[in-house]
Amino acid sequence: MPSDDALRYLLDWYAGAGADEAIGDAPRNRYADSERARTPAAPAATDRAPAVPALLARSAVEQSARDIAGAARTIEELREAFAAFDGCALKQTATNFVFADGNPAAELMFVGEAPGAEEDRQGKPFVGPAGRLLDRMLAAIGLDRNRAYITNILVWRPPGNRNPTDAEIAACLPFIERHIALAAPSILVPVGGTAAKTLLQRKEGVMKLRGRWFDYERPDLPHPIPACAILHPAYLLRTPAHKRETWRDLIALKRRLADG
Ligand code: URA
Repeated sequence: MPSDDALRYLLDWYAGAGADEAIGDAPRNRYADSERARTPAAPAATDRAPAVPALLARSAVEQSARDIAGAARTIEELREAFAAFDGCALKQTATNFVFADGNPAAELMFVGEAPGAEEDRQGKPFVGPAGRLLDRMLAAIGLDRNRAYITNILVWRPPGNRNPTDAEIAACLPFIERHIALAAPSILVPVGGTAAKTLLQRKEGVMKLRGRWFDYERPDLPHPIPACAILHPAYLLRTPAHKRETWRDLIALKRRLADG
């Protein structure tokens, strides 16, 4: 029987590698699973040229995401279609599908990056420590979750809160784009760098993008939506000195709302 210290060390090692959730009661040998799935006629992995099929597979996933998301006529239809979508591998490791919270008819729509551990457990976006700060930021401009709509680019948690890959973002992008078109907020607020760069289609970091107004345009939108990114509350928890800029950005959002 290994000592407590050895078990603690092993758990820390797993958590550091991103395996910080128990998703089953018994261990599962995934090497054996993939052995079973390989058909006798399939060429050995080393005989295949992986790059081109991988690219083709990725564009097929993105096309299927576009078709499925584009067919949704309501937010509820979109939620169901996204939950059933199998094109993003994060679905295999996440505990819950985390779609949205708040009021879909609200004027302000906040879009973060991806669910964290608490969001994954509860199936709701922004309910962990960063979410509690986001609630305080909303309160600072007289809003709460009845008067804001909150979602993320990704609906499944990346293991260990690692950054999402380009492929994961690309697979989910058609859904968030359709989500924005169906909610049609008066103002779109990307929260943090990943959401800002993805939605605003910019290469600069969030420090350069925050507090500036952009037109968010999509073919299925009747007119562009004004968009202004803010710093991510998780970042503000780590670097509270930047709360000052965020306060200015929140005031600008409030003013723009009041101006209609
Ligand atoms: N960070 C995000 O970007 N989204 C969440 O829902 C929680 C943390």
